[in-house]
Amino acid sequence: MGTVQTVQSAARSAQRAVKEAVSTTKSPVRARWRRRVLEGGVDDTAASAGRSVLVVAPHPDDETIGCGATMARKRAAGTEVDVALVTDGRHSHRSAIVSGEELGRIREGESVEACGHLGVPAGRVHLLGYEELTLWDRLDAVTRSLAELIEERSPDEVLVASERDWHADHQAVNHALREAVRRTGYCGRVAAYPVWFWADGPWRTEPWAGFGDELRAIVSHPLEARRLPRAELVSTAGFTALKREAFALYRSQVTNLTGEATWQTFPPRWIEPFVGPWELFFPVETDAAPELAQKLS
Ligand SMILES: [Zn+2]
Repeated sequence: MGTVQTVQSAARSAQRAVKEAVSTTKSPVRARWRRRVLEGGVDDTAASAGRSVLVVAPHPDDETIGCGATMARKRAAGTEVDVALVTDGRHSHRSAIVSGEELGRIREGESVEACGHLGVPAGRVHLLGYEELTLWDRLDAVTRSLAELIEERSPDEVLVASERDWHADHQAVNHALREAVRRTGYCGRVAAYPVWFWADGPWRTEPWAGFGDELRAIVSHPLEARRLPRAELVSTAGFTALKREAFALYRSQVTNLTGEATWQTFPPRWIEPFVGPWELFFPVETDAAPELAQKLS
């Protein structure tokens, strides 16, 4: 093997080692980061149980992954829970057997079933039916849909997917929700639940990002993550089995629905970071609250 080949091969194995350190479920780097975030958090379990909520999910399954135990705890306490599914998730898989429209219907159905398992009646799951990956082009419409729901339901709190998730739909939904809060003057509590941010860590590059981008993220994003607001924690005690069962109801995402070789599913242990002792929420500062405070003063 020549020197160039040796250097290339060393670079490749270094690249592999870095990727493995941050990208496997059991990554010690990521586990340490998660532990640190949770250790800095504050227990909000008791207060959370009594607050009615509108959970805003970009795709069917995000609500269960991010807030499943919190929703179940609220319902067990007799608290009202509404869920808004912004997209129907029709583009999660390409298939020769199931059309996109059909898949959207299947995923919405799975969500109604999963939310039902957590105690949320079907009538409280609001299917907004937008198409994935089009949300940034339809922000105004999405904002109006969310604003209508906020006004109609008037919940004590709104839980929305985090803007720190690398998925464009998650970021768009977070943006639209903040705008809906501003437009409606909603002055309840708003907090963000992490999905991809929590799964993948602060190295929030898309799966298809090149190694250079990934390396830059590995260096810069943990610094950014240190400036996170303190997480508010809700205990999952007594509700993890229910949450696992609800997640398993997403058959199109956890099993090979059509038997096609191209049908990808969540890796077997992917859900583990979401069924630990806590669910976590980062408080979102909104423009509406200070405006209202000004009006009231
Ligand atoms: Zn999602």
